[in-house]
Amino acid sequence: MVHFVGAGPGAPDLITVRGAELLGKADIVIYAGSLVNPVLLGLCRKDAIIYNSAEMSLPELREVFIRGHAKGQEIVRLHTGDGSIYGAIREQMDELAKEEIPFDIVPGVSSFCGAAAELQAEYTLPGVSQSVIITRMAGRTPVPERESLEKLAAHGSTMVIFLSAGMMKEVSATLLKGAYTENTPAAIVYKATWPEQKIVHCTVGTLAEAGETYGIRKTALILVGDFLGCTYEKSRLYDPEFETEFRKKVDNPRGDADYVT
Ligand code: SAH
Repeated sequence: MVHFVGAGPGAPDLITVRGAELLGKADIVIYAGSLVNPVLLGLCRKDAIIYNSAEMSLPELREVFIRGHAKGQEIVRLHTGDGSIYGAIREQMDELAKEEIPFDIVPGVSSFCGAAAELQAEYTLPGVSQSVIITRMAGRTPVPERESLEKLAAHGSTMVIFLSAGMMKEVSATLLKGAYTENTPAAIVYKATWPEQKIVHCTVGTLAEAGETYGIRKTALILVGDFLGCTYEKSRLYDPEFETEFRKKVDNPRGDADYVT
């Protein structure tokens, strides 16, 4: 059996309990050496065989899966963050399905969640944005024209931009063609939750300069939108004047002693 496990964004205790247990039992571990914190390998059995996928091609990964499965071994394929975001797990799952090798997936804390936690931010503020666009600039992997950064920027929603820290100038110029202005708040989060994490607050207009000043060119997220600002509306969820399925309206919301209905 092959288990695709999300390792989390970096801090080793941000892997899930299920992921950690599978890692502790595995005969073979293939980890994404470019981004998975190697401290996590400390959870592996002493006799586990460890491969670094950063040095492997898809056919090589397939070989390891096939050989391990033939011997009845448990395999953990450890991906950074959550495998569903730029994880290239689909092509591996399809290879496994072709070989009739069973697999399952353990979710992980994606770096975009790690970054929000470190920023102490909420992406979906009432009155600001109720949508999060997760995207990237086209690099070696092209982005379909209909979802180019310029088109997505037209929404002015909260945006999380992966894999684009080396193109900050282009990101900034492209965002400005959409609904954002020079002054729209932005942040660069480098290696969220790692000890060497850097958080740089800037604006859409100063993104490139900020990246340059702090020498950030990779392993970073670019976060954009007014969720990083100070203005928003309170939620209905905890509004004392508002009833939900689970909570009746509070008659005297401020607890005033002389409250009369
Ligand atoms: N599956 C991963 C993303 C892999 S793509 C996830 O869910 O987070 C690799 C890109 O993710 C990097 O170029 C960077 O943009 C982002 N990334 C991954 N880990 C990060 C971290 N700890 N801090 C900031 N960005 C990170």
